[in-house]
Amino acid sequence: MSQSAPPANVPTVVVALKWHVGDTPLPLELPVPAAPVEPPAVLPALRRLVDHVVAHSVNELEGTGGTVSCKEGCAACCRQLISISDIEAHAIAETIGRMPEWRRAQLMERFTAAERWLTAIKPADDIIEALNGAERRDFAIAYFRYGVACPFLEDERCSIYLERPLVCREYLVHTPAERCSRVGESDIGVVPTSHPSKALFRMSSIDDKRTETRVPLSLLPYWLARHPRTFKRAGGGDWMMRFVRSMEQADLDEEEAWRKARTALSPSDEAVT
Ligand code: SF4
Repeated sequence: MSQSAPPANVPTVVVALKWHVGDTPLPLELPVPAAPVEPPAVLPALRRLVDHVVAHSVNELEGTGGTVSCKEGCAACCRQLISISDIEAHAIAETIGRMPEWRRAQLMERFTAAERWLTAIKPADDIIEALNGAERRDFAIAYFRYGVACPFLEDERCSIYLERPLVCREYLVHTPAERCSRVGESDIGVVPTSHPSKALFRMSSIDDKRTETRVPLSLLPYWLARHPRTFKRAGGGDWMMRFVRSMEQADLDEEEAWRKARTALSPSDEAVT
């Protein structure tokens, strides 16, 4: 089954989006369920959006003589700290639920091993807090050094490739692949995509609060056991508009963070006089 469209028997509406990568508008028409649904139901449309944005960015890169270094079988990035949204966490739980028993058992063994490794470094709640706080980047670098592979990684390939998280879809590098195993020590050039995945972190709660929810993929069963599925329902078009608003808010937050960082680096007027 294609993961890029709602199932054939679901009535849909088409949402026309003009997404921007830098100054370039990328018009896109996406079918989404017409009836009220929970937000995971619009993930197929969001995956299509990200795949479209990434294809555009790769074309731009190649137009300037660059190339993407990522190749099948190279999975250093699958040992990074992958944060997903609450929406993707529950969607992946559904994906696991559709797997045969033996496969679920195999995955649970890997999740248990990953949790054992990680909680030897820090209690699980502290890891989740670190992911949702200002020290996220430092913790991500420390995490990578432990080399804990994503439980979905098999033979250096993603075993849920069609349904992999947005952040995994949009992460491509154009610097030599060897650098990817030295996160924090070497420059890694990531293909610029405007990172639509960041909009998912607050999409489910954009109308109630502006805080983000980031779930460490390696601790998915731990997080799910403490966060039952309680999504509201809304039309697919409404969810897409919330995604756009979440993206705008995430961009504003980034600008504000940059502004603060620049202010902290510049001498203040008081110091100059
Ligand atoms: S979900 Fe797939 S692509 Fe993403 S980190 Fe895991 S194995 Fe890698």
